[in-house]
Amino acid sequence: MKRLIPLVVLCAALCGCGKVIPADDEVAVVPLPERVAKGQGTFLLTASTEAVLLSGDDSLACVTGALDPVLEPVFGQGLRVRHADVPLDGALNISCDAAMPADGYRLEITPGRAEIVAGSAAGAFYAVQTLRQLIPAAAYGAANVRAVELPVVTIEDKPCLGYRGMMLDVCRHFFTVDEVKEALDIMALHKLNVFHWHLTDDQGWRIEIKKYPKLTEVGSVRSRTLIGRDPGGEYDENCKFDETPYGGYYTQDEIRDIVDYAAKRFITVIPEIEFPGHAVGALASYPWLGCTGEQYEVRQTWDIDDRVFCIGKETTFEFIEGVLEEVVGLFPSEYIHIGGDECPTVMWEKCPHCKARMKAEGLRRPRQLQNYATARVEKFLNARGRRLIGWDEILEGDVTPTATIMSWRGAKGGIEAARQGNHAIMAPTTNCYLDYYQTRDTAREPLAIGGYLPVEKVYELDPYEQLTPAEQACILGVQANLWTEYIATWPHAEYMLLPRLSALAEVGWSLDRKDGMEKAYCCFNSNARDFARFGQLLLNNGQWDGQQLISPAYLAEATSPDTRLVYKDLGKPNHCYGFQYWILDYKGMKIPYMRGILGQYVFTLPEKNAVIVRLGHKRSDTYTADQHYPDDINTWLDAAMDLLQ
Ligand SMILES: [Zn+2]
Repeated sequence: MKRLIPLVVLCAALCGCGKVIPADDEVAVVPLPERVAKGQGTFLLTASTEAVLLSGDDSLACVTGALDPVLEPVFGQGLRVRHADVPLDGALNISCDAAMPADGYRLEITPGRAEIVAGSAAGAFYAVQTLRQLIPAAAYGAANVRAVELPVVTIEDKPCLGYRGMMLDVCRHFFTVDEVKEALDIMALHKLNVFHWHLTDDQGWRIEIKKYPKLTEVGSVRSRTLIGRDPGGEYDENCKFDETPYGGYYTQDEIRDIVDYAAKRFITVIPEIEFPGHAVGALASYPWLGCTGEQYEVRQTWDIDDRVFCIGKETTFEFIEGVLEEVVGLFPSEYIHIGGDECPTVMWEKCPHCKARMKAEGLRRPRQLQNYATARVEKFLNARGRRLIGWDEILEGDVTPTATIMSWRGAKGGIEAARQGNHAIMAPTTNCYLDYYQTRDTAREPLAIGGYLPVEKVYELDPYEQLTPAEQACILGVQANLWTEYIATWPHAEYMLLPRLSALAEVGWSLDRKDGMEKAYCCFNSNARDFARFGQLLLNNGQWDGQQLISPAYLAEATSPDTRLVYKDLGKPNHCYGFQYWILDYKGMKIPYMRGILGQYVFTLPEKNAVIVRLGHKRSDTYTADQHYPDDINTWLDAAMDLLQ
């Protein structure tokens, strides 16, 4: 969606007339800061407030830039930036102090000024994310805003875990550059710092590799896609397909753009190139990569595939090294993820090349071919100054002591890794798989891969469970994973991410503040639900100018007859994000609408080719089960309808 800056907003900001939006009563920051001391009074943020940089550090420019998308919809502009030697009154002063924890910060708001002192530019960036959340939600719906009040408060904060990640699968379904950037924006708001980008799989190869052009020419497109749930395999006669080619990939320029966009948000992008399993996209492009040399098609269904890279042939290693050489050139991350999960050995067992490799290397079991292959790839990456991450399957057999394990089949793999001294990242299905259903009322949720993962369960993750302090030191952090077999659109992906990603951020950033779990969860839940501004900051980027917002993609999604935006019921106050779907009786019309994130409403008017969005202005649990919309909705709709005439 285009960002609209209404003229009236700009006028109000510049001419000194207009409203002052009062500060919210509560300081509700997610993830929970280490210390919050609220005082009396407020600081007025206006269009003429300046950001004053007290350090010469160029990277602080990213920090103030992060406020622009939040302030532009309110004032029509971001903060002007200047350098100074001492803090100035009436300004937002930002400086670095090397004595502070590297990613930590202190945000101090007094009636006279606002001040951020941080251990690094990253710390200052996190302080700005906190500041964003202090801007009152009411600022976004309002016209003629002259100033917004920020509460007088001192917040001291730092992260508990160094690795706070989110994985997005772009292979099963592809997400555009802009959508990936939205994912990064959501991560930034939650102070997450690692974007794990799952780029290759059986159902599509999504990264341009110059040396192997067929990977994208052939491997990025499947001829059709399974409809509904996979009943048991590609050749199952019960499968229904959409008979529509599906594809997409990122050029190297687009990848550089995304890596840069992430870096400006202090997010590292870790690419995942699956090896040796999940390989059909590659094998369909270059049949000589497989054991039999057969020509395969890019996979059209979802479950695990036997057709994997041949470990017997040297050409396989030439290939993967050629790919990784370009990957290393594109991604500056210390870590490169090579997948390694769900790799059946049945092809290897029958393959003369693979058998010869086993013999030559003295391998007793076919599974050890994977260890052999992983160790070779790790050596290649290490020689380029990089480190290898793999899913916990790489522990089976003989893992090298330097590999980092991503524990997904429960916490077991991570625990085992930590006990033998390998680094690990905790991303167990039990707490971190955001492709699972969010409620037990699955009939009213969009089709999902299965499971049941409510937000509380994400919040409960303890990455240190069963580990001694020494072993805990091997846990780098936590990660939420969004696999997208059943997630075809970005609005659906957002529905799956929030609020569960908020809960994951609490684990990664605020783990040590979860003493007395029940109380802590209540606090998180209350803070998250207070986030009318999440809706504004994230879903619509604060772009409400009193008129309808129409996004063709959103319209198509929202008005499709088999719409999957059919969500939540009201009986579960813990689940207030996401969408609820209702019908409104309005002047004899039945208007389908979704009640969105925390009091946000999306009315669909297919006959007018319009979607009308009303941004949230109250907590969603204000309304009872019988009353799904505010009292003034008819009046408001009258005004909105007038705009559509
Ligand atoms: Zn083979």
